[in-house]
Amino acid sequence: MDVGKREANSAKRSRQLQLLNVLPPYRPSALPILDQRLRGTKFVELTPRSILNSPEQTGVDFWSLNPYVGCEFGCTYCYARYAHRYAVERAHDAGTLSDAEFREFRGEHGWEAFERRIFVKERVLDALESDLRRYFRTNARGPERTPIVIGTATDPYQPAERRFRITRRVLERLARCEALNVGIITKSPLIARDVDVLRAIRERSDLEVHISLISVDAALIKRVEARSPTPATRLRALEKLVAAGVRAGLIVAPVLPGITDDVAHLEALFRAARDAGARFVHAGPLRLYAAVRDRFLPVLEEGFPDLVARYRHAYEGRSGVPPAYARALAARVKKLQARFGFPINDGMVDRYRPRHAPVQGSLDL
Ligand code: SF4
Repeated sequence: MDVGKREANSAKRSRQLQLLNVLPPYRPSALPILDQRLRGTKFVELTPRSILNSPEQTGVDFWSLNPYVGCEFGCTYCYARYAHRYAVERAHDAGTLSDAEFREFRGEHGWEAFERRIFVKERVLDALESDLRRYFRTNARGPERTPIVIGTATDPYQPAERRFRITRRVLERLARCEALNVGIITKSPLIARDVDVLRAIRERSDLEVHISLISVDAALIKRVEARSPTPATRLRALEKLVAAGVRAGLIVAPVLPGITDDVAHLEALFRAARDAGARFVHAGPLRLYAAVRDRFLPVLEEGFPDLVARYRHAYEGRSGVPPAYARALAARVKKLQARFGFPINDGMVDRYRPRHAPVQGSLDL
């Protein structure tokens, strides 16, 4: 071995030792740990047999794909916590997680692990290959081909993607397909890294990117989204995508009743979207699923105490907003879409409308 190589190896070993000294020790798990952050977040390998979920499996009108289970952005209103809980319970039932690990992977209140124990769907391409065969068997070529939406339950460009590149590998594979209908939903400017692949997909398929942003108020975002990127960086990413010829727009989900649903707030978002060159803006109200309440309601109590009683009454026994509120918000959104020159639509994301409407009650706007 030459001296340069020996020095490089010794420097690497010393860096590894330094790392071992600052990281809390963890014992081997049946689920391989791929990485760990200083604040304790762990990234755990998951080798799925299937990665593309059919509409029959999920009850929505599109196929969905999520490269990660759990999301470090940790939005307090995120409804995807149930999916993480389900993955952990399945691993425990299958004997892959011991009882102690199960407690760790659930977290003290049942919601923390979603943000701090991230499952990474490694070796995704084998699963995708067989899923695509299944997809093409059931979806004839043509404009009606069912969309494939990436990022319906967790963000495909969350910080882990910088290292693991699972989303990029999926997109590279989809770029070799013809006449797909692909949607991507993300809060992360990291998507701009993959503009080359997105352009390649767009050459053969229909592609739409939804940049998710609920407010241009960075201070408010910090209160309700634990570790998400700033509004300005998301808008810059939107601008880059549009400049690269990718059809991209804003998805405002959720609109938080009493917090972000006033005209001034929504106007600021629509204006920012227009200035960034967005092709569309969709918006939809908060759904307060059971898995969201434990995380979101304490934040509401702390930051917006005046709204607590109103939320509890409006969402009592249901997850969706009342019909009167939904109608008023939809009317407001349509007016803004018209005023800022965006296509006018009825729902949050017309193409990706859930098949089952939420149960609704009554709340004044
Ligand atoms: S970025 Fe999306 S998936 Fe991640 S926590 Fe926020 S809402 Fe949930």
